[in-house]
Amino acid sequence: MGEEADIDAEVLIAGAGPTGLMLACELRLAGVDVIVAERLAERTGESRAGGLHARTLEVLDQRGILDRFLAVGELQAVGHFSGLWLDFESFESRRRYPLNLPQSAVERILEEWAAELGVRVLWSSEVTSVSQDSARVTAELGAGGDAAPRKLSARYLVGCDGGRSVVRKVAGVGFPGTPATMTALLGDVELPGLTEDYIFMRRVPDGHFSVIALEPGWYRVITSEYDHVSDRDAVVTFEQLRESLIRLAGTDWGIRNPRWISQFADAARQADRYRAGRVLLAGDAAHIHYPAGGQGLNTGVQDAVNLGWKLASVVRGRAPESLLDTYHAERHPVAARLLQNTQAQAALARPGVQTDALREVFAELITFDDVNRHLGGMISGLDIRYPAEGRHPLAGRRVPDADLKTPDGATRVYELLHTARPILLDLRGNAGLAALAARWGDRMDVVEARSEDEHWAVPSVGEIPTPAAVLIRPDGHVAWAAAASGAPDFSALRAALTAWLGPVR
Ligand SMILES: Cc1cc2nc3c(=O)[nH]c(=O)nc-3n(C[C@H](O)[C@H](O)[C@H](O)COP(=O)(O)OP(=O)(O)OC[C@H]3O[C@@H](n4cnc5c(N)ncnc54)[C@H](O)[C@@H]3O)c2cc1C
Repeated sequence: MGEEADIDAEVLIAGAGPTGLMLACELRLAGVDVIVAERLAERTGESRAGGLHARTLEVLDQRGILDRFLAVGELQAVGHFSGLWLDFESFESRRRYPLNLPQSAVERILEEWAAELGVRVLWSSEVTSVSQDSARVTAELGAGGDAAPRKLSARYLVGCDGGRSVVRKVAGVGFPGTPATMTALLGDVELPGLTEDYIFMRRVPDGHFSVIALEPGWYRVITSEYDHVSDRDAVVTFEQLRESLIRLAGTDWGIRNPRWISQFADAARQADRYRAGRVLLAGDAAHIHYPAGGQGLNTGVQDAVNLGWKLASVVRGRAPESLLDTYHAERHPVAARLLQNTQAQAALARPGVQTDALREVFAELITFDDVNRHLGGMISGLDIRYPAEGRHPLAGRRVPDADLKTPDGATRVYELLHTARPILLDLRGNAGLAALAARWGDRMDVVEARSEDEHWAVPSVGEIPTPAAVLIRPDGHVAWAAAASGAPDFSALRAALTAWLGPVR
């Protein structure tokens, strides 16, 4: 297969959206030769998503690029669950507040980072067909027009090509779920007659509408109606948006000058497997849902960060291919829960007196701190815990960003993760840990440090005594931790090192 290809790479990514770009960067950090094939000729500047949540901000902090996003976004004090306000004030994270930032800005910053890391992006390159054998995967790239298609051969292909993923279809992966039951129209417009600052999910008998300020003079109008399901392939017109706004709001506020009009709905579907041989799926290609609470892009970026280091490890021949199956095992349940919470939010958004009553009950419940923290942990991604061996409360969770003192000076846990390498953090100076880790050679870093705090605050858990040692995966999740007192369990550490870094040669 390889000899016939016009282009070769170790990994091919279909789609230069947020998921594909993040994955490409993760792979490049591990030195993998990666190409991104993107159907579009250039960026459109359109923005579906409007923000990033705490766990995504933490992930960007783990790579040392968070400041680029903070420099252009705006931190918000609150988030929401189907329009009911959530308060993130007491969350156990340095990055607890959501960041308002258009998707186009997220893509631009990721693209700049990808260029710095040497990612090759092929624009005007639509993946149209895929075949694989036991050694390689070959994709045909259509250039559009009369240009001849090219063949690209790689060891792995990751479909990050959005909700209508061609890669998912040609790989024969099922996409079960539920169809749309409503129609939402969206337009970025001028509204000269609007006198209110903004309107968020105002409920009326036939649906609800929002008007959100984007930048001086510009607003995003969203109308949601429940009496019909539109054809998702049809082009939405300005007139349709205006009429929908009049139906729901009773006025169009002089709506004019649309720069983008689109539609979305509440279909909820998930790929039944995230891996089919040498083909993997991530982001919207693996899951679509009602965009309530702003979670889709966040989940895609976090899919990429879970998959990147595993795929790099397999490509480098350090870990067996079975490591890739942990990607499905860990990320499929996360998106299944995402589909569930967005379906619950969709149910809470429907018009009708019974829903009004349900919302009243929810609005009361959400004022209880435990409920606020439970829903906020879900929306922010801070409560994610992957299946993990061991009884330590950190096992499988994301490591807190604790302040540390090392022989080289003060640092933070997330600064240690900038290189995207596994880290054995020894917080009690146990020589046995470094001796055991040495058997894995240069596959990881051992860092001896002291924590500045006697306790670490962990979302969904509370305060725990600072552990004696932690094995941290490149994605920031804890593979093994030793309790504050008592001898570390060396055999469990050996098992964790073997499982996540591959066997000792
Ligand atoms: C109204 C609305 C608001 C939203 N708000 C939020 C929010 O606030 N927060 C949030 O987290 N999420 C939000 N989302 C969801 C978010 O926009 C998506 O989850 C996100 O774009 C998914 O990123 P992705 O990279 O997986 O896919 P996409 O962004 O869809 O990117 C896929 C890329 O692949 C390319 N492509 C497609 N087919 C091919 C092919 N065959 N070959 C090569 N390239 C191909 C496309 O051109 C595109 O560039 C919102 C969605 C909507 C509709």
